[in-house]
Amino acid sequence: MRIILFGPPGVGKGTHAKLLSAKLNIPHISTGDMLRKAVAAETELGKKAKAVMDAGQLVSDEIMIGIMRDVLTSEKTKNGFILDGFPRTLPQAEALTHLLNELRMQLNTVVNMEISEREIVDRLGKRLTCRKCGKIYNLNIDKLSNPTKCPNCGGELYQRDDDKPETVLKRLRVYNESTAPVKNYYKNLDLLQNVNASGRIEDINNAILAMLTHR
Ligand code: AMP
Repeated sequence: MRIILFGPPGVGKGTHAKLLSAKLNIPHISTGDMLRKAVAAETELGKKAKAVMDAGQLVSDEIMIGIMRDVLTSEKTKNGFILDGFPRTLPQAEALTHLLNELRMQLNTVVNMEISEREIVDRLGKRLTCRKCGKIYNLNIDKLSNPTKCPNCGGELYQRDDDKPETVLKRLRVYNESTAPVKNYYKNLDLLQNVNASGRIEDINNAILAMLTHR
């Protein structure tokens, strides 16, 4: 299975990619997670990416396409992948098509996850992430007895710098301007399937799974 989870920030791509990865035994490839790791490790890439990410902007296509080339030519993704956060621009989508053609791989589907902007802003303001295991929590939904400690692994929970209110609005603008047009690209390739991403996580995940079995 080669799947793209597509949609605005905060729609639940990371949460659902992790669940699908465990259920289907395919690697979850999150470009955001990869960049955050590079920032934490203070690598050259991390140093370049930090300011861009904190400002809610996109890292350059050239860098992101290079990263994706490394990932897709690795052993890890040989038998499938779930992409989360890539492609985010039309040039990235076109580069991915070329890369997959070169590797003689085909995408099964692009799941377009949809929720209202109001819900996005609300969710991102309440989102906490575990520094250790990466699990994502929502203060409105998850009953956390201690909001600084991950119930899953005991790691530290933190709010992403780019989830602060001023950056969230910027990210939504960037999504609408640069990323949303990618939907049409996949619609024209007859790969796009829409899912309502508002509601219970398990119900939404089952709806996505049902879509995958029809591809
Ligand atoms: P995410 O965790 O997917 O929300 O990504 C966090 C941030 O990483 C984004 O706001 C961008 O600054 C950067 N980023 C992640 N993926 C990409 C991508 N495909 N293209 C450009 N920037 C990206």
